[in-house]
Amino acid sequence: MRLATITNWAYGATVLLTLASGGTMIFASMAQEDERAAATQRHVLNRATSAVGEDIYALTNQARQYVVSDDPSHLIVYRREAAALGSVEFRLRHLRDAGAGPEELEVLAAGLRWADTLQAEQQAAIDARQTGQEARARQIIFGPGYGRDLDRVEATVQRFRDQLDQRTATEVSKATLAARLWRTISEIVLGATGCLFLCILSFILKRRILRPVLKLSDIVTRLAAQDYAVEPPDYGHIDEIGDMAQAIRVFRENGLERQRLEQERSADHAMRELLSRMTQRMQSCDTTRDLTDVIARFMPQIAPDLAGRLYLLDGSRNIMSEASTWLSPVHSQTEFSPITCWALRRGVSHRPAGEAIDVPCGHLDSGDGAPIDSICLPLTAQRETIGLLYLEPQAGTPRRLARPAEAYLTILAENIGLALANLRLRDALRKMAMADPLTGLANRRQLDTMLEIQLAEAARSGRPISCLMLDIDHFKRFNDTFGHDAGDTVLREVGAVLERATREDGLACRYGGEEFVLLMAGLEPDQALERAEDIRRRVEALVVTHNGQDLGPTTVSLGLASAPAHCAMDRLVETADAALYRAKEAGRNRVVVAVTRRPGRAVA
Ligand code: GH3
Ligand code: MG
Ligand code: MG
Repeated sequence: MRLATITNWAYGATVLLTLASGGTMIFASMAQEDERAAATQRHVLNRATSAVGEDIYALTNQARQYVVSDDPSHLIVYRREAAALGSVEFRLRHLRDAGAGPEELEVLAAGLRWADTLQAEQQAAIDARQTGQEARARQIIFGPGYGRDLDRVEATVQRFRDQLDQRTATEVSKATLAARLWRTISEIVLGATGCLFLCILSFILKRRILRPVLKLSDIVTRLAAQDYAVEPPDYGHIDEIGDMAQAIRVFRENGLERQRLEQERSADHAMRELLSRMTQRMQSCDTTRDLTDVIARFMPQIAPDLAGRLYLLDGSRNIMSEASTWLSPVHSQTEFSPITCWALRRGVSHRPAGEAIDVPCGHLDSGDGAPIDSICLPLTAQRETIGLLYLEPQAGTPRRLARPAEAYLTILAENIGLALANLRLRDALRKMAMADPLTGLANRRQLDTMLEIQLAEAARSGRPISCLMLDIDHFKRFNDTFGHDAGDTVLREVGAVLERATREDGLACRYGGEEFVLLMAGLEPDQALERAEDIRRRVEALVVTHNGQDLGPTTVSLGLASAPAHCAMDRLVETADAALYRAKEAGRNRVVVAVTRRPGRAVA
């Protein structure tokens, strides 16, 4: 039952009880009035009855005194009192008026008639005395007859009095009982009204004021401690408590909104911080391998529920191939033609099963044909597509799920694209710095670096390392005869032979002018000699033309040195150079091997 209904019922009951208590108080007061009236009537009747008895005795007394004393004063008093008595009807009326009943009055009337008889006897005695018949007078007034009549009158009056007493006593006790009863009822009803009123008051105080105020105070304390899980009650009262609850609800909603905004802000901050950290790490990468490792490490943190793959464009095959992967994606192929991806075709991110329906990419395979909520983000640098970032819901999670905002993914794709472009640029620059632009072979700087690394490796492993120093014979003649460009062509052709000869193992380097150095780690001297002879034969077999003109035969002289067989590690190039010198001296177009090392010193 609703609180308002209970309260209304209680109010109604209080009003009814108040009315009932007023009614019972009126009845109690009336009963008290009746009780008082009954007592008064009893008292009046008692007095009237006593007067009747006393009158009879007084008359008898005066008559007897007169008879005995013959004193006329007694006679005067007697006559006056007899006259004052009046008739029987007069005296009965007096008692009837005082409340005596007809039966009682009948008894009294009989008594009074006997009293009248007595008065006749008194009169006879007085008459006898006045006529001097004192003895007769005494006989009449003191005689046994008079005594009997007097007793009879007295008995009758007594009977009347008893009847009266009995009746009035019953009436008084009835009235008293009724008055007491009504008084008790009135007190009970009044007490019940008071109790009910107090109950309602305490109920209202407790339920409508105390309890809500305590609850609201507890809620305010929790809200002040930023515990927004607490739910303010909706009392629906149109009063101060209701207003207070409403205000607290508004306060909580504002707090929740503020907390949501703060959470969004801190999540945004954390995401941007993560993206920034990832970007810094990517920018510090020296190789594509490092870069793809960084991406695979950071991606599960940025999008914890998304598995993904980084594809890089293999330009030589025009294919997107997997460079790294995380959280085991299953729906996209590891290699595919860029044309099958809508993101790569359009140059913008593509989400086939997002909010709006779209065309699925050709490199996707959902298995059961159901759409996958995947996203493809093209990676571009200087308007050129260089890769693709692919994301899909991780296996075991719903196919549709909350993901980082598209804005973050766009920033992410831009950062990865930029890092890849930087890396490529750096690679190109490094290549340019380390390569000879004419032949594409390593330059002197790269040779120095590689020599240091390979000598250290050979020293560590104990394996041999060989060095070939190569010089084109009479090169100056090409320049002089056919021009500098023709000379360059010869250099390129010889460079190509050297590049092919060292593709599997070794390093070919343009040492300067028309001189080249080949480093062959792990080759024994005889194997290196074989390789040198092979090179020499290949160059000899070259037919170099420039602008359609045959430039004539091309030969090279080679000096071969091997460490530790011919020299110490640190004298490898120098020893090979000395061997080359000897090859030139010996007539060119030949290979000369450094002399086998003698203890303490190497000789070319
Ligand atoms: P040898 O058989 O004794 O080695 O005789 P050579 O003529 O090959 O040797 P020389 O040192 O006399 O001549 C080398 C020439 O190579 C001199 C230089 O002008 C030329 N040269 C150096 N660098 C280049 C280059 O990059 N391009 C062209 N076309 N010529 C170059
Ligand atoms: Mg030279
Ligand atoms: Mg030369």
